[in-house]
Amino acid sequence: MGASMTVLDCQRCGACCCNPDENRAEGFPYYVEVQADSRLLRREDLRKRYVVEDEEQVPHLRLDPSGRCAALRGKLGQSVQCAIYADRPRGCRLVEPGSARCLQARRERGVDRGR
Ligand code: SF4
Ligand code: SF4
Repeated sequence: MGASMTVLDCQRCGACCCNPDENRAEGFPYYVEVQADSRLLRREDLRKRYVVEDEEQVPHLRLDPSGRCAALRGKLGQSVQCAIYADRPRGCRLVEPGSARCLQARRERGVDRGR
């Protein structure tokens, strides 16, 4: 049975919380944009920790050196949590489990390997 036929559990994944290969290939260290009205930008402590501006001062989620969102906790493909789930930007809510983008992210990060 393919991954699309199973119920995908985001809390055992986290693949779409990482910079996709397309961005990595271009050396682009920004992934999810943080919209101007996001609560993340209003909370100074969260902003400092999890937000970074690109060259054009557009806020994005901060990525760690491995390309994971700085707010992602846990082990990719095993057990993960979002440290700012209630305040996560709109872009984080767009990837539907089982969608083409989801399945691509899982493939790229090797989440389905060995299952
Ligand atoms: S890649 Fe898919 S299954 Fe994994 S966290 Fe994102 S939406 Fe959920
Ligand atoms: S803010 Fe949360 S949901 Fe969004 S990419 Fe980071 S860890 Fe994932």
